[in-house]
Amino acid sequence: MTRSPQPRDLIRPDILADTAYQVPDAAGLIKLDAMENPHGLPEALRGQWAECLARQSVNRYPDARARELKQQLRTCFAIGPGYDILLGNGSDEIIQSLVLALARPQARLLAFEPSFVMYARSARLCGMEYIGVPLRDDFSIPLDQALQVIAERRPALVFVAQPNNPTGNLCAGETLTAIAAATPGLLVVDEAYHAFSGADSLALLDSHENLLVMRTLSKLGLAGLRIGFLVGRREWIAELEKVRMPYNIGTLPQAGAVFLLQHREQLHEQAARIRQDRERLRQGLAQFAQIQQWPSAANFILFRVRGLAGPAVHAGLLTRGILVKSLDGVHPLLQDCLRVTVGTTAENAAFLAALAQVLAG
Ligand code: PMP
Repeated sequence: MTRSPQPRDLIRPDILADTAYQVPDAAGLIKLDAMENPHGLPEALRGQWAECLARQSVNRYPDARARELKQQLRTCFAIGPGYDILLGNGSDEIIQSLVLALARPQARLLAFEPSFVMYARSARLCGMEYIGVPLRDDFSIPLDQALQVIAERRPALVFVAQPNNPTGNLCAGETLTAIAAATPGLLVVDEAYHAFSGADSLALLDSHENLLVMRTLSKLGLAGLRIGFLVGRREWIAELEKVRMPYNIGTLPQAGAVFLLQHREQLHEQAARIRQDRERLRQGLAQFAQIQQWPSAANFILFRVRGLAGPAVHAGLLTRGILVKSLDGVHPLLQDCLRVTVGTTAENAAFLAALAQVLAG
């Protein structure tokens, strides 16, 4: 009798050697690790929202073209009729679709480091060569070096997170346009934190034919719905549509997002509160002489404690019921760094109090 196959007999060696994306268990903790909006659905909307969801025909497949949702996105984000929208099950899926579509033999993906891990991860999974250009010590893009690498390696796909995760900084508009002009491939400007940054690259679409703008509803307060979108010229979106799974956005996420975007002023109010709380959190962190923090245009702050190992700070916060993200070991520039998501005013106060205890030893 032949033995039944084992994973190591059939699974690609690179996948066997890989580890799954780790999501820590946050049960019972104040969750400040994943850039979520801490406020939850406004109480006044819940009943109507539930009614709207209850009316949906979940016996049918979703609208494969998600027409209503796209129309709503056009209205909310002022997306001109000259551009099309690709929807993803989170922008994570859009990154993967882009990489899948562009992973011709020898095609390369360029991103900056440290930045959002899914760029490199998707390249690896789809067999696309990955080029990581290190950011400067202040996390800005070294433009001359970037242009040189682009000229030499001619990447098919470049990602710039605007603002960057996990560092929180914005890249200068001229840097973006210089990269767009220099790259022989596509430039995707990832504006996941648009709600907090004020940065808006949609206007660049008119002048740069190889540019695409990616956004998500996750940080605005709808992370559980998993809706990301990519805006760009029709020719590009039409090709990427061929890679998208036909029903990647379920009926309930489509209807739920349409409803909530119709009531977006409430989400915008929450985002404004988060921006205010970010500044308070910044001031709170500034009270500690040992803390080095970086300016942030997003809903999180990167920081480190001088003289204390990042993992020890992380563990100390965890034992006090606070979950943040430890970035130590991810990249040399992030040694001992932690990233705290802006929570509610009370959660931020609890975080600062726990941090004070950790610092006091
Ligand atoms: N881009 C950036 C820069 C991010 O930080 C994140 C989330 N951490 C994403 C994209 C993915 O967001 P989502 O899949 O929830 O849309």
